Amino acid sequence: MRLILLGPPGAGKGTQAKKLKDKFFIPQISTGDILRRAVKDNSELGIQARSFMDIGQLVPDDLVISLIKERIKKADCEEGFILDGFPRTIIQAEKLSETLNEMGLVIDTVVDLVVDAKEVISRLAGRSTCQDCGGMFHVQSCPPKVEGVCDNCGGNLAQRQDDNSETILKRLDVYQESTAPLKQFYMRQGNLKTVTARGSVEEIFSRVLEMVK
Ligand code: AMP
Repeated sequence: MRLILLGPPGAGKGTQAKKLKDKFFIPQISTGDILRRAVKDNSELGIQARSFMDIGQLVPDDLVISLIKERIKKADCEEGFILDGFPRTIIQAEKLSETLNEMGLVIDTVVDLVVDAKEVISRLAGRSTCQDCGGMFHVQSCPPKVEGVCDNCGGNLAQRQDDNSETILKRLDVYQESTAPLKQFYMRQGNLKTVTARGSVEEIFSRVLEMVK
């Protein structure tokens, strides 16, 4: 099963991708997580990506395209994968189709998580993320049992560098301009499914499952 999760920042792509991964035993491939790891490690990729990420801009297409091309060819992707945060531009989507085509594969379903901007801003502003496992918490809707400590692995929770109000607004603009046009792209390919991303994580997950079955 090869899936793409689309939607603005804060729509719950990461949360739903993790649940899909646990249910179907296929990897979650988050370009955001891969890039944040690279920044933390101060690798060549991280050094190139950091200045874009800090201001809520997209990292250049060629960097993310080459990392995804390598990643989806790995053995653990044979039974499928969940793309979370990729593609983000039409060029990325075209290159992904090309690469899959060469491998004799296709994307089965693109799930578009729909949520309004006001909800997104409140979700992101109250979000904290585990520095070790990437687990996500929210000050109101999903507080950790112990403040600042991840329930899953005991790692430290911190607000993401780009979850401040100025950068959130920039990321939403970038989404509208560069990523929202992907809905038309996948609608034309006939595999776009729309899911209302309001309500509890479990409610949203059951809607997602209906679409990917
Ligand atoms: P995310 O965790 O998906 O919200 O991504 C965090 C940041 O990483 C984004 O604001 C971008 O700067 C960068 N990023 C993640 N995925 C991509 C992508 N597919 N294309 C370009 N930049 C990306």
